Amino acid sequence: MTKRPDEFSLIEQIRRRAVVSDRTRLGIGDDAALLKVSGGEGVLVAVDVLMEGVHFDSERAGAQVVGRKALAVNLSDMAAMAARPTATVVGIVLPRRRAEQLGQELTEGLLSIAAEFDVDLIGGDTNTWDGPLVISVTLLGEPTGRGAVTRSGARAGDWIFVTGALGGSLGGRHLTFQPRVGEAQALHNMVNLHAMIDVSDGIASDIRHLARESVVGMVVDAGAIPIHDDVDRSLPDDQRLRHALTDGEDFELLFSVSEEDGRRLLEQPPLDIPLSRIGEVTLAEAGCRLRLPDGALTELPHGGWVHPFGDAL
Ligand code: ADP
Ligand code: MG
Repeated sequence: MTKRPDEFSLIEQIRRRAVVSDRTRLGIGDDAALLKVSGGEGVLVAVDVLMEGVHFDSERAGAQVVGRKALAVNLSDMAAMAARPTATVVGIVLPRRRAEQLGQELTEGLLSIAAEFDVDLIGGDTNTWDGPLVISVTLLGEPTGRGAVTRSGARAGDWIFVTGALGGSLGGRHLTFQPRVGEAQALHNMVNLHAMIDVSDGIASDIRHLARESVVGMVVDAGAIPIHDDVDRSLPDDQRLRHALTDGEDFELLFSVSEEDGRRLLEQPPLDIPLSRIGEVTLAEAGCRLRLPDGALTELPHGGWVHPFGDAL
């Protein structure tokens, strides 16, 4: 499609600002980008599309924050594979009336987190229309020497861990969270990660994804869930727990390891952030359950976070 002059000038600006590393043989400016790959392990690819009015309100949050988050959610996906993110391609559709300003702010936010995580911006596509802002970010990554960690390797008897603390993210943390890329690699170096996922919908939901893919059951200890300070302290305990289990957008790592590796993680925690043992893997027939402080087992609450249509970031 024919480009408008302001789209060209935006791309020129992005091109000047996108400093790339030597793994990018050919970046912005040609018909396609050319990226070096190291080793024969393959390339990991993740994509997320964010839409104004569904996933964010750019007037309220600021387009810079939106650009940052659009890459951050993909970085969190790469972390969940224990992979090293390398390069990103970005598709943006800008509302005509605010195209220039939004395009610049988006890029600003995106490039700042790209630099922080050593990711090259190597290409994209830019369009304007009369509709709302849409941004699609594709992130490429490489597995580390120990391979990519999938959702499907949990085994009965494994211990389940989560990084950081959970709940209350929609109060604002979801815009500024730190993807656990370095943490995933530190864990991957120290232990044999059987299965891993990043917590985007809330662990009540994400634990079911792990259980389904691994064909196992899981028991979570109510008393072991690390509840974030962002969850209102004046609420009764059961409601605070429910927030921690179902709010979502925590972007922490949820993973399982053997009991032996689990003990090592508790004895010599390798991270600067908290690491909590929250339960164990069981046989598939047992399903996904919550163990209450008195030892009683109940079904894990259903329903993680579902994007509330029209709700703002
Ligand atoms: P083509 O029509 O060949 O796809 P474009 O004019 O769309 O070329 O893009 C020119 C160059 O600018 C390409 O290298 C493309 O990857 C890059 N590019 C376009 N939009 C963006 C963007 N928003 N961010 C980064 N690179 C972009
Ligand atoms: Mg194009």
